[in-house]
Order: sequence, then structure tokens, then C-alpha cells
Amino acid sequence: MTKTEEPSFRDRPKNIDPKGFRKWVYAKKPKGKWYNRRTAVSILLLIFFIFAPIIKVNDNPFMLLDIENRKFIIFGVIFWAQDILILAFLMLSFIFFILLFTVTFGRIWCGWLCPQTIFLEMVFRKVEFWIEGTVAQRKKLDKSPWTKEKIIKKTAKHTIFILLSILMTNMFLQWFIGPERLWEIITGSISEHYKGLAIMLGISAFFYWVYSSIREQICTMFCPYGRMQGVLLDKKSVIVAYDYKRGEPRGAKTGGDCISCNRCVSVCPTGIDIKDGTQLECVNCTACIDECNIVMTKINKPKGLIRFASVEGIENKKASVWSARTKAYTAVLVVLLGIFVYMLASRPTVEATILRTPGSTFMETKDNKISNTFNIRLINKTHKEAVLTLKLLSHKGKIQIAGSEIRVKDQGKFQTIFILTIDKKQITSDKMEIQFGLFNKDKLLDKIEVNFVSP
Ligand code: SF4
Ligand code: SF4
Repeated sequence: MTKTEEPSFRDRPKNIDPKGFRKWVYAKKPKGKWYNRRTAVSILLLIFFIFAPIIKVNDNPFMLLDIENRKFIIFGVIFWAQDILILAFLMLSFIFFILLFTVTFGRIWCGWLCPQTIFLEMVFRKVEFWIEGTVAQRKKLDKSPWTKEKIIKKTAKHTIFILLSILMTNMFLQWFIGPERLWEIITGSISEHYKGLAIMLGISAFFYWVYSSIREQICTMFCPYGRMQGVLLDKKSVIVAYDYKRGEPRGAKTGGDCISCNRCVSVCPTGIDIKDGTQLECVNCTACIDECNIVMTKINKPKGLIRFASVEGIENKKASVWSARTKAYTAVLVVLLGIFVYMLASRPTVEATILRTPGSTFMETKDNKISNTFNIRLINKTHKEAVLTLKLLSHKGKIQIAGSEIRVKDQGKFQTIFILTIDKKQITSDKMEIQFGLFNKDKLLDKIEVNFVSP
């Protein structure tokens, strides 16, 4: 498609040398319209990341992924283990949304929304720019012997990186255990929480390693989503692209708009040359768009030599993103979201499970009656305390509940044992199906079928 400056770019990543050793990417600090927009988006996402588990909606966190208690709160809506099917549809919808988004807008998720890029480019890299300066200053510092200046700068940078990693891990843990539990662990004695502390330090060490050393290799080598670009992108996908029709032939005096200054390469956090065409290492961060726009302004050419465009848009000036694939993905996404919304709206407000008490069979009474013992487990999915009544719908019988009533706190769980006694005359088999009804005042909330055993 374009003239290739380094024939090896499709054979090996730009940050690996011919002998297989890492080449450190010294990216220039981007500046421009797109970088400002990305900074604004990142600030919003960082605020969301920090405060989503802290903000309360009806006394519950806005976001919580409590794996231990199998309780997930997503945008204030609570999902219990029993809602796993609804959650599965939510996850499927999310996956299809990402697929549709990628087919349409390429790897924009990576450059703009992915936590790895946000923390690397908008937090850790900014600290590095602040302490170690420009590309030339950073290169010089890395090559220089351990002078006083180098020791101070490197110590300051890595100390801040370690503190940021610990802070990030704690913010991350909030999503799984909630801010109250996190505070309890932080303020509690180390001997009580040594396992939690070890996990926290382990994750912090991993983050520190990623952001101080591994960096862009997560996106270019490890991330499976990046590897999927080859099958997801097509000629209609809008990606960060070099307009080779306008730019070629390169060079100030050759007629094309590209002056081969390579400033677009100097800002790239993955070290690639966008002029080589679409590459899986491109995270669509838009830094090269900003840098090339600065060059175009200086040489009095229109901006947008590198811009968001599809291959079809560059070749034929067509800009439609709709293809058979995007239409099919949209249709599937609408169906999945429809099913998810329907299931969410129609799920019972109180979820009840009744099982015969393990190890028990039946008891025969002197007055010709049979009794079975059951365990009842209830989850109240509403934001009001529920006082419930259990009735036998299929037969006549007597229910004796341990404790005087069934009272379930808002968003709470309740568990007890009860005995059901039925007259022998009503029994039709040794394993007879019976049906209970769960009522809130006179309103039937749920019907539950179980077996009643008898001699
Ligand atoms: S910054 Fe623009 S002009 Fe300079 S090499 Fe890159 S594409 Fe060409
Ligand atoms: S090629 Fe451009 S958009 Fe892609 S990662 Fe490099 S700087 Fe970002």
C-alpha cells in the first residue's frame, strides 16, 4: 500500500531488535486537540474508577463485584448468583458491543478507554515526563553514569511509581470488597489481615513491573484483543490512518504532503510508523494525528494527513461504516440487549429456594399425618424490607416456621427451617409434588415446587 521504509515492520514488533532484544520506546510527549480530548476522557474515567464503588445508590455502591458473596452491583442494579443468566446476557451484549465498536472504529477502546493505556499514558508516563523531561533528556539520563542527578531523578520516579501502584491496587480492590471493608483492612492490625496485605503487595508489585518496565508490550504482545484486529477490521473500519494518496511520494520536493519528518513516529507510544499502514501495535491513541497536524500547519498544508479514516474512505472518498458485518452485529446486539432488559424487568423481586433439609426424610404422627422438614432461602432484591408469608397452594397442610415470621431486609438474605404437615388422605405417592406460594400481603411473588416424601 505504501512505500515501506523498514522492510522488517511486518516481521517483528518495532520495539524488538533483529537479535530479539527489547528496544526501549522513548515517546515524545504528545500535544494537541486529540491529546487534550483524551486527557479529558481519561480524567472522567479515573474519577469513575475511583468513585464508582464509593458512590451510594439506595445505600448500595454504584459498582461492586463481590465475588465472595456472589453479589454484583452494576450501575446500581444488584445481581445475585441466581441472576447468572441475566448477567450472561449482559456480558454477551458487552462482548458484541466491543466487536461492533471494533469493526466500526478499530482499536479505539485501546487508546481511549482501556485501563492499561489510561494508567500508562495519563498517569505513569506523565510522571516520567515531569521528572525526566524530553526524549533527549531521558535518553541522556539513561545512558549517563550514576551521577547525583540520575540517582535523585530515578529514585523520585520509581518511588512515585511504587506509591501509585499501591494506590491503584487499593482502588482496584474497592471494586471487589467495597470501600468499608477496604478501610477495615487498612486500619486493622496486620496480623489479622496478613493474607490480604500480601495479596495487595503482590498486585502492586505486578502493576509497578507493568508500568515501569513492560509498558506498551502488554498492548503489542500480550493483549488477545489486539491480536483480533486482523479478523475484525475491514476496509470500512474507521481507524487512525495515514492518507497515502495525499502524502505520497514523500519528501519536501516530491509533490506529496508528507515531508518524511517522522515526527509521527517520535510520539508513538508503541514505536510504530503509521505510514507503514494498519498495524496491530497501533492502539489508536491519536498522538500521531496531533503531531502531524502541527507539521501540516507549519508547512501551510491542510491538517488531517493522518486522521480517523477508513481505507475505503482514503481510496474512494467513501465514508460509510455500514457493511453486512456491522449490520449483522448491530442486529445481534439489539436482540441480546432486548433479552437482557426483558429478563431484568421480569425477574422476581424476591427469589426463593426451598429444599428438603439434608438427611431428613419424613415423620409419621399419631393422628394420621405426615410431616417433612424443609430449608427455605430467600433473597430480597427490592430496596424495602419484605414481610412474607409462605402458603401451600397445591394441598391443605400446616406450615410451622422456625421463628415467628419471614422478614427479609432490603437487599438482604434470609434462611430458616420449616415443617410441613399433610393429612395422609391427601398423599397420592411416596414422592408427591407439592407447590408453595410466597406472598407479600395478598400479592403472590413466587411459586416453588418441591417433593414431599412419605412411606
Ligand atoms: S508527521 Fe506527517 S509529515 Fe511528518 S512524517 Fe509523519 S506523516 Fe509525514
Ligand atoms: S500509530 Fe499513531 S495512533 Fe497508532 S499507536 Fe502510534 S501514535 Fe498512536
